[in-house]
Amino acid sequence: MTRILLSDKLDNCVERWRSAGMTVIGPVQGESISRYAVVENGAGFDFGMILPDRSVKELFFPQTEPMLRYTIKKSEIDTADFPPPQEKRIIFGARACDASGLAIDDSLFGWDYKDDFWFHRRNESVIVTIACTKADDFCMCTSLDLAPDSTKGCDVLLRPLENNRGWQVEEITDRGREAFAVIADLLQESSDQAAPTAVVTEKFNLDACVTWLQNPENFDSKFWKEISMRCIGCASCTYLCPTCHCFDIQDEGDTYSGIRRKNWDSCSFALFTMHTSGHNPRSTQSARWRQRIMHKFNYFPGKFSVNSCSGCGRCSRQCPVDMGITETLQEISKLQS
Ligand code: SF4
Ligand code: SF4
Repeated sequence: MTRILLSDKLDNCVERWRSAGMTVIGPVQGESISRYAVVENGAGFDFGMILPDRSVKELFFPQTEPMLRYTIKKSEIDTADFPPPQEKRIIFGARACDASGLAIDDSLFGWDYKDDFWFHRRNESVIVTIACTKADDFCMCTSLDLAPDSTKGCDVLLRPLENNRGWQVEEITDRGREAFAVIADLLQESSDQAAPTAVVTEKFNLDACVTWLQNPENFDSKFWKEISMRCIGCASCTYLCPTCHCFDIQDEGDTYSGIRRKNWDSCSFALFTMHTSGHNPRSTQSARWRQRIMHKFNYFPGKFSVNSCSGCGRCSRQCPVDMGITETLQEISKLQS
């Protein structure tokens, strides 16, 4: 016997969590794009999609965020910080690759400087992952040592029931237990079986890829130019990625006052590394694509012992010229074998 939550109790759950002061967020299908967004009742969720077009990242690391307000006076500068948001949230129906992406980026945002905005949101958010029972050809979590029912980064794991009536409930963290204590009487013991998790075939040999990437001789390989020829540098792959985290800090204002903001940036853009002198150390799209791959599977794991990729497949799924990390790693696997 395990505890289950029936789907027809979802309305009550949303009501309880909202009454307990939490904002309830879930996968929502918009007119042109799907994303994790606020829902007001059970009917607001869309659990049918493989995963939302946009990742959960933007709920923790928004596209743009004010950091401080400044005023320049005759002999001093006044500054006032924007405080991190205080909102308590439950994200119900995250995919395992999105939840894992948050855990991966914890190392980055807590490394040389602890990013209060990121960690405040992380500490005030409960992540409820729903294990995947279907996948598409772009999904590749298993190639990254993850799985459709990975508990990495999540507080509660739900497994869809075979009869589609609801979910088995597995509380993972104290934060998850606390959130589910609010709806404890809506759960019930049951012997209903969980549906099998999605079968995600391994797309490439990650160890072989890493060995190839770590070989200094391959840094200038003609492979990079050939594989990235189609890339138009639009940055969709980085913006939709749950683990890409590049940002730029800019002051917006006039001569005397303004707001300092943190804005998303992307290694796919030529301006990203452009020096004031006009020199650009990554002057070609192939050098920028090489950087993206090297960063995710060589430099980042070298520093934080984890790949900067959770295998969601969005970069390949959404690329306007049909490129992506899967294809690149598949080709590297072949070069190394
Ligand atoms: S790989 Fe595709 S999505 Fe990424 S920058 Fe290039 S064209 Fe855009
Ligand atoms: S690199 Fe691609 S597959 Fe990996 S997490 Fe980012 S978008 Fe998903």
